[in-house]
Amino acid sequence: MNAIPKETVKEVLGALDVREVLDYLDYRTETIQESGKVVRCFCPIHKEQVFRTLSVDVATRKGKCSYNPCPGHKSFDLIQLVALSKNLEYDEATVELAQHFQLRVKIPGAEKMLRQRLDSASSLLAEGSLEEALEKFSRVLAIEPHNIEALEGMAQICELKRLAPQLVGFQKTLIDLHTGRGDHARAALVYEKYVRANPTDVEMRLGYAECLHHLNRKVEMCGELKGIAKVFRDREETDKALEIYRRLRAVDPADAEVPEAIVGILVAEGRADEAIEEMSRQAEEKAAAGDLEGAATRYRQILSLDPRRNDVRAAFIEMVLDSVGGADEVGRADAAARSGAEDEVGGPMRSAGPMRSAGPMRSAGPMRSAGPMAPSSSVSD
Ligand SMILES: [Zn+2]
Repeated sequence: MNAIPKETVKEVLGALDVREVLDYLDYRTETIQESGKVVRCFCPIHKEQVFRTLSVDVATRKGKCSYNPCPGHKSFDLIQLVALSKNLEYDEATVELAQHFQLRVKIPGAEKMLRQRLDSASSLLAEGSLEEALEKFSRVLAIEPHNIEALEGMAQICELKRLAPQLVGFQKTLIDLHTGRGDHARAALVYEKYVRANPTDVEMRLGYAECLHHLNRKVEMCGELKGIAKVFRDREETDKALEIYRRLRAVDPADAEVPEAIVGILVAEGRADEAIEEMSRQAEEKAAAGDLEGAATRYRQILSLDPRRNDVRAAFIEMVLDSVGGADEVGRADAAARSGAEDEVGGPMRSAGPMRSAGPMRSAGPMRSAGPMAPSSSVSD
């Protein structure tokens, strides 16, 4: 299959460097010996183990192997050296070298050759000849390292052969390529498989979440973020988990699970002040949205965490009183009493002196595991 014109081959040969080509073949390069006119090394064609049987003339770029049975025993040029070493056809080696060394040589028919190689690899893959398909796809990648079709073929083969480490490499390259081209839909397909197999790789999962964001797939994105937050929680990287939950809250303020998770982490970590601040904010939000029952629950939780928070108790009472706005003084007081705002943990004016410092957050005892929904009886004193 010598379809490439002689002049083109000559151009390619003229642009190649002996040492660089040997380095490219990467066979026992530590044995390379340069003595001005001739370069000698272990022969990469028959994979010599003992002597420097290969010699290449620097001026003519022709060489030969002194080992009789070697296919390179007769004289060869640098393209033949590569073709023989890598078991390629001459034209393939020409294209591969021109591509690898980015030679400014236009090779007619190179694209057609690549297409044929891909088609043949795909057929082999379809009929289950994995080894042969793998070799053909590799050859395409040697010429075009970012050929998506070949990378997808390789990924598929690695999946079938259960070659996890190699698969990861191909998947990451494909994701980068698709994302770089703005093809988020195709990137998502690869991400999905990757993330399913590597659920603790949060960096990649964040990439997937971002990809889903680009695709406007909000529900899946939130699910992904929750999964990431869980990984962080499992690793006890709570600040990172909190960061994810806060992002989730910004994305979907209506998701009730997220505020619970934030409070849950803060309480479990014994970060009472932050937990209370968070719950106060949530109570105010709920009250503003008309969810008085929800707000009341939050206020009660705060007061059970820290009964000394008279400011919170006052806000709680205020909310209850506002809700019965028109009633007379007695009616308002009744409402406040019924709400539990006053007698839940003592009246609003009850002293919050140092004697009350033995609250649950001091000992961080039962609350650590009980979470924010712990019954208020656990703090009665
Ligand atoms: Zn040889």
